[in-house]
Amino acid sequence: MMDKSKLSAASIAAQALGWVDPVTRAVTPAIHPSSTYIRDPDNQYRSGRIYARDNNPSFDQAEAVLAALEGAAGAAVFASGMAAATAVFLALAPGDHVLAPKVMYWSLRNWLVTEATRWGLKIELVDTHDIDALRAALRPGETKLVWLETPANPLWTVTDIAAVAETAHAAGARVAVDSTVATPVHTRPLDLGADLVMHSATKYLNGHSDVVAGALVTARDDETWQRIKRIRAQHGAILGPFEAWLLLRGMRTLVPRVRQASATALAIAEHFRGHELVSAVLYPGLQDAPGHAVAARQMQGGFGGMLSLRVKAGAAAAIATAATVELWKRATSLGGVESLIEHRASVEGPTSPVPDDLLRLSAGIEDPAELIADLEQALRAAVA
Ligand code: PLP
Repeated sequence: MMDKSKLSAASIAAQALGWVDPVTRAVTPAIHPSSTYIRDPDNQYRSGRIYARDNNPSFDQAEAVLAALEGAAGAAVFASGMAAATAVFLALAPGDHVLAPKVMYWSLRNWLVTEATRWGLKIELVDTHDIDALRAALRPGETKLVWLETPANPLWTVTDIAAVAETAHAAGARVAVDSTVATPVHTRPLDLGADLVMHSATKYLNGHSDVVAGALVTARDDETWQRIKRIRAQHGAILGPFEAWLLLRGMRTLVPRVRQASATALAIAEHFRGHELVSAVLYPGLQDAPGHAVAARQMQGGFGGMLSLRVKAGAAAAIATAATVELWKRATSLGGVESLIEHRASVEGPTSPVPDDLLRLSAGIEDPAELIADLEQALRAAVA
């Protein structure tokens, strides 16, 4: 008999853990829009459900599938990736010291240095991929959280999760990883020692650019996890039932989508490496990329669908390239089935650490040769 607890990610996701509705025998779940639940005549709530801000049956399956994919003790979906990420920081106490990457998802970095500091967190930005720099910045007993993003937006720097987890734990700090780009298809941070994993589920988990959602998974169902779940309910950072349903539908095709996007990203990176119009290709899958050795160890089956190109002719040519593509879509975000191109520095503003000649690419699942040809013609038109 098949041991279903050992199923591959592809089978877990495709069948959403094989769940069948016990009443209707439906293979996809119903959407539960109800905001409230009947109380038992003796004043109890034996169903475990009281009010939809605390929990909602529409979350259950998406959370169970994500927990299985990540090898987690629990999962929680949120209203957005930002809602999920900020819940982790809000579960800390004023005065706690936090280490986070210098280059990371821009909006979260902004929130950390503006809002989280006002709330009393001591935020210190370091090159988290440099283990010596990280070790030097850790304050044993005072540092409560190390936040990682790997590969990190938009330079795709890779951080050795296992090495950071060992070092951070020795200093008494937890490790949380924004694994939006790696997805559980390529990396399972909890297996490498991380305590928490965050996803902007808006991206690969959903995969169709039609839901804004976030998720956290945890290695342990402990007091911190319960506090994070309380923060979700109390702050109302919840996903709508229809969005949770769409998220689950998207997750069913996660594995083939991510594999295809990663293969395409690698093909694009190899095509433009050494290209006469491109000064650098940033992609951890390239053998000479700075983080390649770590990525090859901690990413299975591919290096993700995100890469960046630096346009040799400079910022104006980069912007013109994004304006001239015909198949690529000129838009922010990532992880959808359609390929997106973005001049990142203009999105992040004047204080951004991102080079102004950089184009961020999110490979979708279109024909790779057509995507490459479109970029080629746009780069040539931009410098003509
Ligand atoms: N983390 C990463 C790596 C992201 O790219 C994003 C969004 O672009 C977020 C977090 C925030 O997610 P959301 O837009 O779902 O709030």
